[in-house]
Amino acid sequence: MIWESNASLAPYNTFGIDAKAERLVHLESEADVAAYALHPDGLAKQTLLLSGGSNMLLCADVPGTTARIAWTGRTVVRETEDHVWLEVAAGESWHETVRFSVQAHWGGLQNLSLIPGLVGAAPVQNIGAYGVELADSFDSLRFFDWTRQEIRTMDAADCGFGYRDSVFKKQLKGKGVILSVTFRLTKRDHRFQTSYGAIQDALASTGVAPSVESISDAVMAIRQSKLPDPKVLGNSGSFFKNPALPAQEVTALAELHPGLPQYPQADGTIKVAAGWLIEHAGWKGKRVGNVGMHTQQALVLVNYGGASGPELWEHAQRVQASVFEQFGIQLEPEVNLIG
Ligand SMILES: Cc1cc2nc3c(=O)[nH]c(=O)nc-3n(C[C@H](O)[C@H](O)[C@H](O)COP(=O)(O)OP(=O)(O)OC[C@H]3O[C@@H](n4cnc5c(N)ncnc54)[C@H](O)[C@@H]3O)c2cc1C
Repeated sequence: MIWESNASLAPYNTFGIDAKAERLVHLESEADVAAYALHPDGLAKQTLLLSGGSNMLLCADVPGTTARIAWTGRTVVRETEDHVWLEVAAGESWHETVRFSVQAHWGGLQNLSLIPGLVGAAPVQNIGAYGVELADSFDSLRFFDWTRQEIRTMDAADCGFGYRDSVFKKQLKGKGVILSVTFRLTKRDHRFQTSYGAIQDALASTGVAPSVESISDAVMAIRQSKLPDPKVLGNSGSFFKNPALPAQEVTALAELHPGLPQYPQADGTIKVAAGWLIEHAGWKGKRVGNVGMHTQQALVLVNYGGASGPELWEHAQRVQASVFEQFGIQLEPEVNLIG
């Protein structure tokens, strides 16, 4: 376990914000987690957990202790003719884990290729892309409870997965740390989801049949062509959630704005594309000082260089207010606001 004082968090968040952590502890094993939980000052309960830093906006320096999740490992814990159960430590790279499963020809995670961040944070917002969510291949996870100082195994029902949501954003926020996640992946009879985004077009253009590998490759190519690389342009992917609204409200709105993209949900609500609302409120590609909404994807808030957390948040609020004024819809951040 390595400790630092007054440490810059710039290398650890994809906006590249140079906020300082009063103390930064690097937890490199589950034994480190257990030892940290026993710290006599009870630090763990007030800790900011930092994983890949790709879904947080640091609006201020972080007082107290920030704990960086840095333990790794992947193990096949069970296997049948049809399925494999893969347990992955919280500190493993998400994308490398997806590629590991793709190279083994295991199905389930291919649509989630190239999402930044680490595995332990993926259940927190039930990451999703191209019509697939983490919950679709999820078996269970191990959670270390700071107060009880014990590990409990949680299934999908315990995790309360929703659209970019889980108990880890609500009742269990700050209560403990996800140690590992176990996925149930298919070895044959894979189910492919190719109807979202441009996956079918990408497959058709190369003449390749849908497979675990070809879908992963297509998703990577699509993402690389339209999403800014955080190493080049600081960002955290989609800044806002796509709002799910009552059907009546969306019908009325669509009469005024015929092009409004709509996605009916199983619960009867209709999701509308937040990126479309932002674009049609005039913010796509518009730069204000060091910040702006991306030129190709209006939902992505970007740091053009040197922006502070408050500057980025101020811009997000400006966009939020403008969308509300024009469409009467309150956008909700998908990104975790810190400080
Ligand atoms: C270019 C880009 C594209 C993206 N595309 C997508 C996308 O398609 N779909 C999508 O869903 N997301 C997307 N994201 C958002 C982000 O990558 C995911 O939400 C990712 O899972 C965050 O992982 P992280 O390790 O970076 O988490 P962090 O940002 O470090 O943490 C996120 C939250 O989880 C908490 N946390 C972290 N680790 C743990 C743990 N082990 N136990 C308990 N709590 C923990 C943190 O305290 C924080 O509140 C994108 C981001 C970028 C930059």
